[in-house]
Amino acid sequence: MLNAKLKPHGCIHPLSRKELTSDLPVETLYLPSRLILRLQQHSGAPALPVVKVGEQVKAYQIIARGNGRMSVPVHSPLAGEVTEITSGNKPSIIIKVSAEQSQVSPLQLLEELPERDAMLSLVEQAGIVGMGGAMFPAADKLRMSLRHNIETLIINGSECEPYLTVDDRLMREQGEQLLGGIKFIQQITKAQHVYIGIEDNKPEALARMDALCADEPTVDVVALPALYPMGSAKQMIEAITGQQIPRGKRSTEMGVLVQNVGTSIAIFNAVRFGRPLTHRVITVSGGAIERPSNLMVPIGTPVSEIIAFCGGLKNKPARMVMGGPMMGKAFTDLHEPITKGSSGVLLLNEDELPSPRPSACVRCGRCVDACPMSLAPLEMVAELKIDNFDTAKKMGVNECLLCGSCSYVCPAAIPLTEYFDWGQQELYRQRLAEQKTKRTCLNSAARRERLEREAQAREAAKAAKAAQSGNRRASRRVAVTEEKTS
Ligand code: SF4
Ligand code: SF4
Repeated sequence: MLNAKLKPHGCIHPLSRKELTSDLPVETLYLPSRLILRLQQHSGAPALPVVKVGEQVKAYQIIARGNGRMSVPVHSPLAGEVTEITSGNKPSIIIKVSAEQSQVSPLQLLEELPERDAMLSLVEQAGIVGMGGAMFPAADKLRMSLRHNIETLIINGSECEPYLTVDDRLMREQGEQLLGGIKFIQQITKAQHVYIGIEDNKPEALARMDALCADEPTVDVVALPALYPMGSAKQMIEAITGQQIPRGKRSTEMGVLVQNVGTSIAIFNAVRFGRPLTHRVITVSGGAIERPSNLMVPIGTPVSEIIAFCGGLKNKPARMVMGGPMMGKAFTDLHEPITKGSSGVLLLNEDELPSPRPSACVRCGRCVDACPMSLAPLEMVAELKIDNFDTAKKMGVNECLLCGSCSYVCPAAIPLTEYFDWGQQELYRQRLAEQKTKRTCLNSAARRERLEREAQAREAAKAAKAAQSGNRRASRRVAVTEEKTS
């Protein structure tokens, strides 16, 4: 086992709260009564339904196909009846789950391992996306990495978000499948060396993976200091290899590919068994849940059914979060479903939340020290507060990971990360609006040119016609004159 080469810049020590679930083996929630399958569980356009309301579907059946770039198919995790297909800002297919279960075809162990392109195609057909939360299509990420010479593959087992213990349990319980997935990714990318980065607050996972990799000459397990956000690709690469990824560069451009633990296991299941991504492990935790748990659930399971499975609520939570407390998204609707990128459901009490009352900045500089991207949060916020988006952009607001470290350490409880999230969205909207204006200008210039060309062509045709009829008149006059003289 290796140790980290260096401690990355910034980083904080938030209260981990992992002890609530880290020793609890993964249980399975088999049959929720219904599933709400979002059609957008990836970075591209929403998938297109290929089933109709009233149709009976089987487990693993494809119910929506990918729709262009960065879009992946959606499969039904269970057999049931399609009761609704909704549109709007969260288009979904809703399935009433049957008591009797059937699946499209039995899972098969592939006789021979496929070639690289066939492996990528299996990953694509399985609808696999980054399961750490980014939901970037896995096949696209792997294909994009092939444009570069990938020398190093890093498996991100840091799981630095407080409360979450999904990757910890997966490494302890499904280490063989993880190693299988690593080998497939290594075959696809031709990475010469693999590092499995695990924070040192997961001693069992470190020991398990180290034992499994003992006879693997190209795979090393690295113990990382438990810091937040160690799971961010740039921080992890710096800690393991000592290599810094310059601003504006992708890690793949520097020959390093980072993959999540759950995604690597999903790749193993797709390539080895032809199995689509229909289930995932989540951590259910927080002071308001009766029985904190690690659960394997069908994707699409509503939070209400997960809470019921975990013994219900002790009290009304002060906040519900999908994902970790630092980067997860707060939600209020108990029917919110689990997606491919949901790593946890947190039901938090008031005493688990930051102070709700922000005060004035005391210019302590703690946010600057905490920022893993070496940004100046207090100055960026000052620019965003006066709508000075261009200056905030120059200061690097788009580089912000939205990791929440600055907000966490701020003694004035200023919601810095919320400002940066809003700033990035605003800059994105401005970029789209600029692109639209540019497209409109180009289209109207092209239309003007076309109209001018058509007008010129009409004029030329008219002139040619006039010249033709002039010639005919002249020939007739010559003919008449010749007739008279003869
Ligand atoms: S941590 Fe908060 S109070 Fe301190 S400088 Fe940053 S914004 Fe101001
Ligand atoms: S949220 Fe952004 S600005 Fe704040 S610490 Fe993280 S990367 Fe830095």
